[in-house]
Amino acid sequence: MDKQFQKIRDDFPILKQRINDEPLVYLDSAATSQKPQAVIDSITNYYQTINANTHRSVYTLGQRATDEYELARKKVQRFIKAKSSKEVIFTKGTTDSLNLVASTYGEKNIQAGDEIVITYMEHHSNLIPWQQLALRKNAVLKYIELTSDGQLDMDDARSKITDKTKIVAVAHVSNVLGVTNDVQELAQITHSHNAVIVIDGAQAAPHQPIDVQKIDADFYAFSGHKMLSPMGIGVLYGKKKLLEKMPPYQFGGEMINSVDKFDSTWSELPWKFEAGTQNVSGAIGLSKAIDYLNNLGMENIAEYEQELVDYALPKLLAIRGLTVYGPQDSTVHNGVISLNLNNLHPHDVATAFDMDGVAVRAGHHCAQPLMKYLGVVATIRASFYFYNTKADVDKLLQAIADTKEFFR
Ligand code: PLP
Repeated sequence: MDKQFQKIRDDFPILKQRINDEPLVYLDSAATSQKPQAVIDSITNYYQTINANTHRSVYTLGQRATDEYELARKKVQRFIKAKSSKEVIFTKGTTDSLNLVASTYGEKNIQAGDEIVITYMEHHSNLIPWQQLALRKNAVLKYIELTSDGQLDMDDARSKITDKTKIVAVAHVSNVLGVTNDVQELAQITHSHNAVIVIDGAQAAPHQPIDVQKIDADFYAFSGHKMLSPMGIGVLYGKKKLLEKMPPYQFGGEMINSVDKFDSTWSELPWKFEAGTQNVSGAIGLSKAIDYLNNLGMENIAEYEQELVDYALPKLLAIRGLTVYGPQDSTVHNGVISLNLNNLHPHDVATAFDMDGVAVRAGHHCAQPLMKYLGVVATIRASFYFYNTKADVDKLLQAIADTKEFFR
């Protein structure tokens, strides 16, 4: 498997670069993924041959742009196994998708005293929209606890989700702890209390097959840029019966059926939620990215990334002075690995790694409540994608050794 994935690196022009005279080892795909040439070309091609505004033109280019944009929606529908393409809304990204749900579904359905349940491992994007909604509505925000190895405490989930719960918002995969949550089980618990579940799939959709119907997700959000596509395009999946009852998110062109002087009616799904000129080139890039991922196979990607983690985690755990957050067992740890080295500040460590050409993230990873929960200010985070190799893991290990030596 390693060999097949080794060749894939040639598709990613940026990975050929040298940084500080060293080959680039890019270990920050949880922040954003690199883009294959095919995706880059699809965007250039759009602007060279298709560019026109969608849904408004009868001329050929306008039709083509609309067809490509709507084809992208169908690709997304199949990628996440949604029942209908009407359930696929293009957004700017996960943050935008989650804000959409909070300010439409949330605004309409949450009353004073209702409970919204989230977890301690949420990214700010799946935390602040609910926190602020709770503040606006006088609702109660509850946090599901984690187990001592950083997994979601499902017993606590069962006790926190009750008949008072109206919304459960949870990450499918943590962007810090490298754990995958059992969202299917959480959806069952949520539905048994007649609440809805909103799943933040930002770190899941790029790495594993997603089946929103099997999960029984009410809403599922993800970003294109973390799965080979350009920045500024993302997806909100929502069940049709819920989307239909929700008020629009933004008002303006494209999202209307008719506008009168003192009132208006809205377009049908999904366009009701897509006000104004959309990111057409982004959607086309996402469409190409999905082709690329499907060609590799999402199962194969998941399996290969697991091989990388199985290789990396025991080696990291064996390093004296290095702390790994989240599960220490590679079978329940995915390709997001948060660390700290001795008492060194993560920014110093990441700067030292950069001297070896190794790009990792350092900081709170937009998860400040989680950092407090873990009792740290920040961590270093190495995150893998399928274009990484065991040689990249070795370079990371070398960078750790060099950094220890440098700060000795
Ligand atoms: N949720 C998780 C788990 C993430 O990792 C991220 C990005 O790092 C987001 C949400 C926000 O994604 P975006 O910035 O693309 O909206």
